[in-house]
Amino acid sequence: MSAPRFLIIGQGLAGTALAWHLWERGVPFVIADRDEPVTCSKVAAGLITPITGMRLTVSWSYTTFYREAIHFYRRCGKKLKQHFFFPRGYVRLLKNEAEIAKWHKRRRDPDMQPFLHPRPPKMDAEVIHDPANGFQQRHAAWLDTTAYLQASRDLFTTLGSWIKADVQATDVQDDATGVEWRGQRFSHVIWAQGWSAEKHPLLSWVPFQSARGTILTVQADLRGERRILNRSCWLLPRPDGSLRVGSTYEWKFDDPHTPAAEQVQQLETNLHSLLKTPAQITGMQTAVRPIIKNHQALMGTHPTHPRVAFLNGLGSKGSLRSPWLARHLLEHLLDGTALDPELDLQRNEV
Ligand SMILES: Cc1cc2nc3c(=O)[nH]c(=O)nc-3n(C[C@H](O)[C@H](O)[C@H](O)COP(=O)(O)OP(=O)(O)OC[C@H]3O[C@@H](n4cnc5c(N)ncnc54)[C@H](O)[C@@H]3O)c2cc1C
Repeated sequence: MSAPRFLIIGQGLAGTALAWHLWERGVPFVIADRDEPVTCSKVAAGLITPITGMRLTVSWSYTTFYREAIHFYRRCGKKLKQHFFFPRGYVRLLKNEAEIAKWHKRRRDPDMQPFLHPRPPKMDAEVIHDPANGFQQRHAAWLDTTAYLQASRDLFTTLGSWIKADVQATDVQDDATGVEWRGQRFSHVIWAQGWSAEKHPLLSWVPFQSARGTILTVQADLRGERRILNRSCWLLPRPDGSLRVGSTYEWKFDDPHTPAAEQVQQLETNLHSLLKTPAQITGMQTAVRPIIKNHQALMGTHPTHPRVAFLNGLGSKGSLRSPWLARHLLEHLLDGTALDPELDLQRNEV
């Protein structure tokens, strides 16, 4: 077998984590990205939170992913001499009687206990509407995705491993021993191209169900509140004083970067029902999350193209999961370890 050398397509959260793991293992790689100004990873708020969603459940394999993410982002930050991973308190406020009743049932579940702060959150009633009835979570964080992606790109460029290119499937030729792109030979290609993979000819059978999402940038005086807050929408105070507020889910769309007006209006309504203090919307960003129906993510080599691999379907959890998922895939490709059957692209071929 030829010495490993990887071609990675896409420098979002997935491709960046793959590149870092390869760099740490001393395996050569080239990462090609088409350098779009707005992508899912660039837009993401980077929230990493254990108890999520309407059902108030602990996110799948949270502890495993969180442990990996903390160490991974700290290692990257050390190498880059930058902080982009910030542990934060996270307050979930309950919006109505039904949600309060649901929480009273769920709060004693053993899987919740490591993530619950022992005391109820103290909230400033001048800043937040209806601050009673909530709980505070531990082991939450946010990733400054813009800073992480840009600093990683700068490092990969310095290493001569980052190329701006819009790579088409037909540009990459593969055989049993490797792949060729622009006259260069690689042991593998890994497509980590986010929702654009819906159009990849080798993935036509994968049930993508990607969702467009919008985040607002807001100016408001939170009187020193630094925790992530959530009731009907989430709100992230950033160190520069701005807030990010999100997010919407739109399952049917044409333009990936223009949200439906009523979705934005609903988000604004949710913001004003959470914040008592005056808030001014100063910006808005929209992109598409790569989601695969009934899967937390899919990865591995293509059933009939052994040198062509994929990592996709990170959904709304790319910041949390990409470090673990990328390592898992590379250990499969480099060391021959088995993939988790739930994540294995080949086992989920239809
Ligand atoms: C509104 C919104 C809010 C979100 N909030 C959060 C959050 O709080 N926390 C969280 O963890 N996640 C969040 N997410 C989800 C998160 O952004 C995704 O899980 C993650 O970004 C997916 O990363 P990716 O690398 O798979 O895809 P992408 O980010 O789409 O990256 C793919 C990259 O590949 C490039 N590319 C595509 N095709 C080609 C090609 N042919 N040639 C070269 N390059 C190509 C693209 O330009 C892009 O740079 C949010 C997403 C949205 C839209």
